[in-house]
Amino acid sequence: MSTQSSAVPYDWGDDQASLAERLRPPGNVIEIARTLQNAGYEAWCVGGAVRDALLGHEHLDWDLATSARPEQVRKLFKRTIPVGIEFGTVGVLDRDGVMHEVTTFRRDVQTDGRHAVVEFGASLDDDLARRDFTINAIAWDPIAKVLRDPFHGRQDLARAVVRAVGVARERLIEDRLRALRAIRFASRFDFTLDDATWNAVVESAPFLTRLSPERVKQELEKTLEQAILPSRAFMRWRDAGAFASVIPALASISNVQLRSVDALPRPVLRTRPLRKSLRLAALFAGLEGKTAEHALRALRFPNLEIGVVGSLVDRWFRLRSELTERLTKSSPSALDSAYLRRLAADVGRTRVSGFVRLAASQWHASQQVEPAQVRELYRALVHTAFHDPIEIGDLALDGDDLRRMGISPGPALGRTLQVLMAYVIEDPSRNTYDTLRMYVEQLRGTAPSNGEIA
Ligand code: ATP
Ligand code: MG
Repeated sequence: MSTQSSAVPYDWGDDQASLAERLRPPGNVIEIARTLQNAGYEAWCVGGAVRDALLGHEHLDWDLATSARPEQVRKLFKRTIPVGIEFGTVGVLDRDGVMHEVTTFRRDVQTDGRHAVVEFGASLDDDLARRDFTINAIAWDPIAKVLRDPFHGRQDLARAVVRAVGVARERLIEDRLRALRAIRFASRFDFTLDDATWNAVVESAPFLTRLSPERVKQELEKTLEQAILPSRAFMRWRDAGAFASVIPALASISNVQLRSVDALPRPVLRTRPLRKSLRLAALFAGLEGKTAEHALRALRFPNLEIGVVGSLVDRWFRLRSELTERLTKSSPSALDSAYLRRLAADVGRTRVSGFVRLAASQWHASQQVEPAQVRELYRALVHTAFHDPIEIGDLALDGDDLRRMGISPGPALGRTLQVLMAYVIEDPSRNTYDTLRMYVEQLRGTAPSNGEIA
């Protein structure tokens, strides 16, 4: 796994001035640190924000670690929220009402691979020592402008390596989620995993079944959101045996299938929920819809999202062969209008756009269909979906009309509407009240006496 990373090595100015240039927490965070220090406590910026700032990336949440106990923190600030008091975390609201996490230095005293019991009265170095990776174990005092980096995290940042703090095997036994976190950080920054850390990840894989589904789901989502190329992370999930443990249906997922996820844009800042669903759908697009839904349910995804992803995967799984064949043959009738209407009806008007984007990602990865053809499909399918009658509600004759014609309400009526829909999809000029009524009469001539058709 220690193949050379393509990440650009960072050019470090290690003097205080160049560090201060990079490490610039927001003013409100500096103010919180100053309040703590003026009261005689230590206060340091820690974790992801320090790491990201050193890498030159923006990071929104600057967390603080302090020698003050949670109750002392709460006394010092007007507005606080006990976000995780048992772990020593107090949320301090700044003058703009934005919350910042202030956590008391702590030491893990007991772990069972899932939960930690913590102890206060620890030093900064104790606190850094219980963190997972060296790149996440760097602290910055924003007042004195001093960096504390006892595990040489900066060196690993410069060498683009994810390395566990201390003995990798032991650290991952303490909390198996760290295996998935190691992979996530590596793919997010295009880092490698150092050998001992990778070996510990592989060794952890069989034990990932013990993690709560919620934590696994969160790692999966963070990976989809943060990695520009999620395939790099998921190849490691697969190769380490993590998929076999936590999403068995993906245990031997192909590289082509994984690369299809990369073809879809990152769901930045959760403002575009469909983007995340699409990346999720691409990950599962080699499976039957039901299998994908089962896997998502096991991970406790919300029903709404299972519905969206499941229906996209289901449509792709059922429709892909004919659609791909038509597009690769590219005969003039490849996208004839009756076929487009059947396709739009099956996919559903509101899902056409998501379906084509999912299909495009699959074809991009498999290199089966040219982008120009995908654009043509998109244009034609959207036009069809929004201009032609493809849903029951578009029919010129509705359920009430059928009841008036003597068809009993219930399944028979529903089936009749389906038959009419298929009749209209074959030729939309049939979608007039008179034509449909005549068709119903015609069918009833051969139908059983209760008026049921089909
Ligand atoms: P992200 O940008 O994904 O939030 P982050 O580094 O801020 O990255 P968090 O999960 O927010 O990650 O955690 C903040 C810090 O807490 C980490 O940088 C790390 O030092 C520590 N940490 C978090 N989870 C663990 C864990 N499971 N084991 C050990 N340390 C952890
Ligand atoms: Mg964070």
